[in-house]
Amino acid sequence: MAECQFKNIVILTGAGISAESGIATFRDKNGLWENHDVMEVASPDGFRRDPELVYRFYNERRKQLLSKEVTPNPAHEALARLEKEFQGKMTIITQNVDDLHERGGSQNVLHMHGELLKIRCQRTRKVFEEKGTINSQSICECCNLEGTLRPHIVWFGEVPMFMDKIENLLREADLFVSIGTSGQVYPASMFVQMAKLENDCVTIEANLEKTQISWNFDKSLLGKAGDIVPGLVDKILAGEL
Ligand code: NAD
Repeated sequence: MAECQFKNIVILTGAGISAESGIATFRDKNGLWENHDVMEVASPDGFRRDPELVYRFYNERRKQLLSKEVTPNPAHEALARLEKEFQGKMTIITQNVDDLHERGGSQNVLHMHGELLKIRCQRTRKVFEEKGTINSQSICECCNLEGTLRPHIVWFGEVPMFMDKIENLLREADLFVSIGTSGQVYPASMFVQMAKLENDCVTIEANLEKTQISWNFDKSLLGKAGDIVPGLVDKILAGEL
């Protein structure tokens, strides 16, 4: 059997990888996220206009994520197996705010758009774990004030997290795989080009359908992530890509 030819693997995931776990993607229904205009629930302006609606929205998303129906699917599990069995360095950069990669067994995960199960104080930027609900009357543990807490989520117009680290990872990558992302959200939509800038990085996209950035990839695999990713991981590990 051939050996895996890669040393630095970067996997980018988007809402599509969690769709089969029962979490709706963004663009399923004409840009609505769980029946809300995304700018209403995922922008600083939306939060200023109607904080209670935004608190309620993320409280509901948190409750859904923690319900027993939502569990990691074979795509999350296959990526965890890749991390375990691959001899080189592998990082998952996820745009997802759910914790399904971690629950599937992955350890090296960067949540560039934040995490649903975390909140932060807007005054001190201190981050706290949160499994329940918050609202504008919730009192922050660090400053003892009402109304300073917000979801630890990167909204439209805000700067994604870990960008310096991500740029370095993409510079080093010799295999870049993008799974279940529409390629419509900047800067993640540019990662495939960044990965190809400095070396001969092999690039693969896995999605239900072609995206507007499919042409940037060496290969596009079409189908459900849960069906495609386990076989892709087998091929990577066997050096058969
Ligand atoms: P998106 O909703 O814009 O696009 C989802 C993509 O996944 C589409 O291209 C679709 O064709 C594909 N897809 C759907 N089902 C699939 C499946 N079973 N297998 C493979 N592909 C499938 O998502 P995005 O590109 O990640 O950008 C949206 C933003 O929405 C992200 O920044 C994220 O923070 C946020 N979001 C997160 C979650 C989550 O954490 N699970 C859910 C919804 C939205």
